[in-house]
Amino acid sequence: MRIDDNFDGNIAGVLARAPVDSYEIEREAVIAMLERERRSLVSSLIGLGLLAVGVAMLPTPAFMALLLVLRLASFLFTRRAVAQLERRMRTRKPVKAARAVLFGAMSLTGVTLALMLWPQPPGASMVAIGLIQVVVIVAVTLISVTLAALPASRDAMLASFWLTASGLILFHPASGDPGMIAVLTLAVLGVRIYSSSTGHHIHSSAKMLVENRQLSEDLADALAHAEFLSWRDPLTGLFNRRMLFEDTRRDRSPLSRHLLTIDLDRFKTINDTFGHGVGDHVIIATADTIREWCATLGDRGEHQAFRLGGEEFLVIARGLDDAVISEAAERLRVAITELEGQFTDHSGIAISASIGLTGWRFGESLDDALLRADIACYEAKNTGRNRVRRAA
Ligand code: GH3
Ligand code: MG
Ligand code: MG
Repeated sequence: MRIDDNFDGNIAGVLARAPVDSYEIEREAVIAMLERERRSLVSSLIGLGLLAVGVAMLPTPAFMALLLVLRLASFLFTRRAVAQLERRMRTRKPVKAARAVLFGAMSLTGVTLALMLWPQPPGASMVAIGLIQVVVIVAVTLISVTLAALPASRDAMLASFWLTASGLILFHPASGDPGMIAVLTLAVLGVRIYSSSTGHHIHSSAKMLVENRQLSEDLADALAHAEFLSWRDPLTGLFNRRMLFEDTRRDRSPLSRHLLTIDLDRFKTINDTFGHGVGDHVIIATADTIREWCATLGDRGEHQAFRLGGEEFLVIARGLDDAVISEAAERLRVAITELEGQFTDHSGIAISASIGLTGWRFGESLDDALLRADIACYEAKNTGRNRVRRAA
C-alpha cells in the first residue's frame, strides 16, 4: 500500500463509518425480484399458450380471443414496465415514475386475467373452461409471489382481479351463484397472505446481503486504516518511528538529502504550567506547522515529516541544496515561535524549537546522519535554544 503523504491529520474522519442503508436493502430486494420476474418468461408464455388452447376449444371463440389479445397486450406492457424499473434501480436513478407505471400495468393485469373468467354459454366444453380457470388462478398466484417485494403493485393486481371477477359474478347474466364471491375472496386473501410471507423472506435475504457486503467493505476499510495508522503517529498524523526505520532505511533516491531534528524548547514547563492537554495542542500545532512548511519546500523531491516521540520531530528533505535548506530551516524556526499567537488564552506561554540540520550523505547510514543531526540540535539547546545549528 502507498502511504498517503497528503494526510491532513484528521484521524477521526478516516475512521468514520456509515450505518446500514435501508435504500440499499429495498433496492436489492426489488432487483432480486425483478430478475426472478424476467426469468419467469417461459412459464408466462406457457400460461398464455394454454389460455389460447382453452379459447380455441370454445364453440364461439371470437369474443374470448379478443380478451386473450387484451391479456397479451397487458402482459407485454407489464414486461416493459418491469424492465424499465429494473434498469433504473440498477443505475440508481429515481424510480417513482417507473413504480407508478408498473402499478398501472399490474392493475391492468388483474383486470385482464379476471376477464378471462368471462362466463361461457351452456354447452361450452368443460375441459376448455376448466383449463382457462386453472391457468388464471395459477397465474394470479405466481405473479403475486413473484411481485412480493413490490407490495403496492401486487395488491393493485389482486384488488383489480377481485373487483373484476366479482363484477362478472354479480352482473353477468350467465354467471352462477353470487356465493362464489366468498370463495373468490378467500382465494385472493390466501394468495395475499402467502405472498406477503414471501415478501418478508425476500426482504430479510436482501438485508443479509447488504449487511454482509457492508461488513466486508468495513473490514477492508478497517484493514487499510490499521495499515495506515501503523505508519503514523496517532496524535499528529505525521509518520512514526516505524516508518523512519523500516521504509526510509531503504532510501535509494539519487537526490540530495538533509535531516532536521526539531525539539520543542522547555516543553516540560508548558505541560507543568498549562496542563498536558495544552501540551498536546502545542505538539499538534507544531506538527501542522512542519507539514505546511514541508509543502513550501517545493516538489523537486519528496519531503517526509516524522514525530519521533514526545516533542521531537524529524524532517527528511530531498532535492534541496545546502543554502536553500539552511534558509528554510530558519523559516521553520520562526514559524514555530509564531504559534504563540494561537495560544493567547494561555498568557506567558513560550513556544520555540531548537533545530539540528545536517546533510545525509550517499552511502551513509541513517543512524550516523541522525546522530549528527541530534548533536547539532543539542548544540542549539546548549547555546541558548530557539535556534538552528548546522552540523559540519
Ligand atoms: P528542552 O528544552 O531541553 O528540550 O526541555 P524539554 O522540557 O522540552 O525537554 P524534556 O525532555 O525534559 O521534556 C519533554 C517533556 O515532554 C516530558 C514529557 O512529559 C513530555 N511529553 C512527552 N510526550 C508527550 C505528549 O504526548 N504530550 C504531552 N503533553 N507531553 C509529552
Ligand atoms: Mg524539548
Ligand atoms: Mg526532547
